[in-house]
This record gives sequence, structure tokens and C-alpha cells, in this order.
Amino acid sequence: MGVEVVTFGCRLNAYESEVILREAEGAGLDDAIVINTCAVTNEAVAQARQMIRKLRREKPNARIVVTGCAAQTEPANFSAMPEVDRVLGNDDKMRPDAWRETRRALDVAGTEKFAVSDIMAVTDMAPHLVPGFQSGLPRAFVQVQNGCDHRCTFCIIPYGRGNSRSVAMGVVVDQVRSLVEAGHAEIVLTGVDLTSYGTDLPGAPKLGFLTKQILRHVPDLKRLRISSIDSVEVDRDLLDAIAGDERLMPHLHLSLQAGDDIVLKRMKRRHSRRDAIEFCEQVRRLRPDTAFGADIIAGFPTETEEMFARSCALVDECDLTFLHVFPYSPRPGTPAAKMPQVDGRTIKDRAKRLRAAGDVALHRRLDAETGSVRQVLIESATQGRTEHFIPVAVSGAAPGEVRALKMTGHDGARLLC
Ligand code: SF4
Repeated sequence: MGVEVVTFGCRLNAYESEVILREAEGAGLDDAIVINTCAVTNEAVAQARQMIRKLRREKPNARIVVTGCAAQTEPANFSAMPEVDRVLGNDDKMRPDAWRETRRALDVAGTEKFAVSDIMAVTDMAPHLVPGFQSGLPRAFVQVQNGCDHRCTFCIIPYGRGNSRSVAMGVVVDQVRSLVEAGHAEIVLTGVDLTSYGTDLPGAPKLGFLTKQILRHVPDLKRLRISSIDSVEVDRDLLDAIAGDERLMPHLHLSLQAGDDIVLKRMKRRHSRRDAIEFCEQVRRLRPDTAFGADIIAGFPTETEEMFARSCALVDECDLTFLHVFPYSPRPGTPAAKMPQVDGRTIKDRAKRLRAAGDVALHRRLDAETGSVRQVLIESATQGRTEHFIPVAVSGAAPGEVRALKMTGHDGARLLC
């Protein structure tokens, strides 16, 4: 059976799962399943536990190793599960020696079940060169940063991933080059708090400078995409690159979280609703067709109906295209979990209304795209994505190709051509 990796959560986990597979196989693990968990919501943790029980039923002899953010934030809970053979920390999962130790521990009965080191003590990023993505998808993720120095009151991520640390620029450029040589047409830069890239590196290079270095030193790279960013921390170089380089995709996903200034303060966010609106306007002056996505939480503690209405209004004021709506989920140990909570039914209802506002916004963008010619990266025999990350129904094209296609309409979710 070899090693199987099951990935939950974000693009960062997707990248790390490629490293886990290589290191676990390299250490000689066999007949093993690694669950790379997510801790962002209670639901994500519950899904990982369900998956573990299901896999144990289906593969009674496999060794089950649990890692990822939920393993880092609640190691004892996973260790207490009889289905689990080993719990590995979020930094440990990236280290070859930890996998050798895991191999040894799995072979010796009664060995300590969990090896979870103090994530707050981690200060550097072990460089990893992933030769290619198992998924075979034309899009590959490159981790450039990990951890976060902020402490937003609702967020458990810093406790799962530690403080911010960056991958050296040269290592990133080499990684991008090797993935392009392996045939990946699109590279997505990923991290936890991408805009804090470089604060721990000599000369403190920013995300914009890194982006320009990649575009300059990897001329064969067709498409570069930036994953989620904090709009208030975007630097001048990044704006220049957005304005000046066609290979940098005109699509930005913003970590907005709410549209009301009092709620943003109680979240300990660093921007105001006005900042968010002005940022989108500024980018559109530089690159008018830019598409924006955003993360918004519905039902944050103390949020009133008026405050929620301002989150809904932000969808139109920023002209967002993609909305990721998170029903508020109290995470153990976070300050927001101790604040007066909004009742569960109201949270659900608000999430539903916010998603509906998102659907209207997406529909508006799909209408506007009809008749345009877009550069579509073919992902599979039936689907591609435009430079704005809008899905397109395609046929008869090979994955990895970038084709100029005329949009003839849409089905409410995907463009047609
Ligand atoms: S910036 Fe805030 S929301 Fe984002 S990872 Fe850091 S603490 Fe969490």
C-alpha cells in the first residue's frame, strides 16, 4: 500500500502534503495513512475525526498518523483516539528525522504516541524542493511563508502554525523554476500571512519584491497567482507588479473578515471598511479587470443586525466576485470564544444571506464576462479557469494548455465558450 496522504484545509496544507509524502516514503514507512488536518473551524476538526474512524474501519491494518494544525492544537484529543497510532506536530511533519523516528516508533509497541514539538519555538523554515505535484494538476502551490505574528481574536492558526517565518528568496525562485520545468503552467504563492513575507529575512524583502524576482528569474513561467493577502499590508512593489506584468494574475483574495469597523476592532484586524474599499479601487485603477475574492465571517460575537448589514454591503462596495463565508465557530483558547456569542441559528441564517449576496455578485461578474476573450488554463478534460480564476466549461483541450477562448455565456457558476 505504501503511504497515502489525506489533506484537509488550505493550499499550504496541500503543498505540505507533497513534502509529507516524500519524507514518509523516504523514511521507509509502509502501509500507512497520514491525515494532514485543519483547525480553522470546529467542523474541520470533526471531519478529520470522522475520516480517521472511517479509514480505520476500511483499512484495519494500516498505520494511521495524524498531523497538521488540529494535531498541533489538540494533540491529546487525537492521541486518545484508539484508531490513531501516531500524532505528529505541524513543524515535525516537515522534518525527515521526525519521520524516521515515527517509523521506528510505529514498529515498537508501547512507544509514546505523540511527537509534537513547541510550534512557538520554531523560527526558521526548512527549505523543501518539491519536484512536482502528485495531483498532476497544471497548477502548483509554493509555500513562501508560514505562521503568523498577528493575534486576531477569532483565529487559532498562530497556535497551530507558530510565528511568522519566511523561505529564502533564492529557494523560492528555485522551487518555482523546478515546478515550471516539471510542466506546471501556473504557480500559486501560498502562506499563512503572505504579506508579512520577509520580515525575518536579511534586508526584509517584501512580498512584492519576491514576486518581481520570480517573474524576472523564471521567464518560462506562464502564470503566477497570489493566494490570500491582508490588503492593508500590500507593498508598492506588489502594486507595480499587478499593474505591469501580464503573467501576474489579476485576481486577489482578501482576508477581510467583516464589513463593520466595530467588529473589525473586536477581531483585532488592522484595516477599516474604508481601507478595504479604497484598496480595491486603487488596484482597479492599476488593473481595471481585477477580480477580488474575500473571506468574511458571519455571526462574530457581539455582531448586531446593523453590523452584519455592513458586511453584506461590502460585497457590492468592493465588487467582490468570490466570497468564502465562514459561520463563526468559537475556537478553544481564542479571546473571541469568551465574548458574548451570537446564537447558532442567527449565525446560520446570516451565513446563508451572505452566501446569497455572494451568488448575486458572482452572477453579475459572469454576465460581464460574457462576450470577452479570456486566457483559460485547462485543468481537466471538462474544466479550465480564466486569469481571473473564473471556472470555464471546456471540451477537447489538454490539461496544462493556456487557450484564448471567447465566452459565450454562463450557467450561473461557470462560463461557457
Ligand atoms: S492574520 Fe489573523 S486571521 Fe490571519 S492567520 Fe494571522 S491571526 Fe489568523
